[in-house]
Amino acid sequence: MTKVPPEVRPLVLSAPTGAGKTTIARALVEGEEDFVFSVSATTRFPRKGEAHGVDYWFLSEEEFLKMVDDGEFAEWAKVHGDLYGTPKENLTRARQDRRQVVLDIDVQGAMQIREAVPEALLLFILPPSVELFFLRLTGRGTEKEETLRRRLNTALQELEVAEAFDFLVINGDLDEAVREVRTLARGGEAPPEGTSGTLDDVRLLLAGIESLLRREKLLQGH
Ligand code: 5GP
Repeated sequence: MTKVPPEVRPLVLSAPTGAGKTTIARALVEGEEDFVFSVSATTRFPRKGEAHGVDYWFLSEEEFLKMVDDGEFAEWAKVHGDLYGTPKENLTRARQDRRQVVLDIDVQGAMQIREAVPEALLLFILPPSVELFFLRLTGRGTEKEETLRRRLNTALQELEVAEAFDFLVINGDLDEAVREVRTLARGGEAPPEGTSGTLDDVRLLLAGIESLLRREKLLQGH
């Protein structure tokens, strides 16, 4: 068991795209002095409404790779063709301030944090059902079939590492999911009436996504 007090353990939230983890991460830090959001660096272009230094540090590939060379990232990975990384400074500053840093990162990054920061708490956010997951993925209505296929296939790979996480949290009701994440972050147990998921939920989602891809003839190499 770790001796690091719960309030300074980095909290990592990962999920298949479309499970709503960014909403949870943002809700968690909003109005809560104890939590601080880890602003990542990325080479992707800002979306409408995103601000430099608030949502991400938007860097050129050259700037990003220089940070990699200088060993400034606690973890970094290529996600959907762009580079993303967590500056080490986000972790050190939070620790100094005795605030719990919240990392909203992909599963490759989460696995690197597992190695580099063993006391980190890793939570995997699950969508409540395949149907809702699909709806969230297609919700913007702008996804091309190719994009959708790529995302669903990525989701399959992401779900396959779910068992490496400390807890699985089902994001059905946002308030409930945020409450549960907060409880777990503070070192508590998942409430029995809460939204905690199990590996059976993961298996169901995997089967659901596979059948969706097969039906839509979107499955790659499965
Ligand atoms: P988006 O571009 O939609 O904001 O994020 C795409 C994916 O990159 C999401 O799964 C998000 O969690 C992940 N991501 C964001 N920041 C980081 C980071 O610093 N490191 C890693 N490994 N993934 C990140």
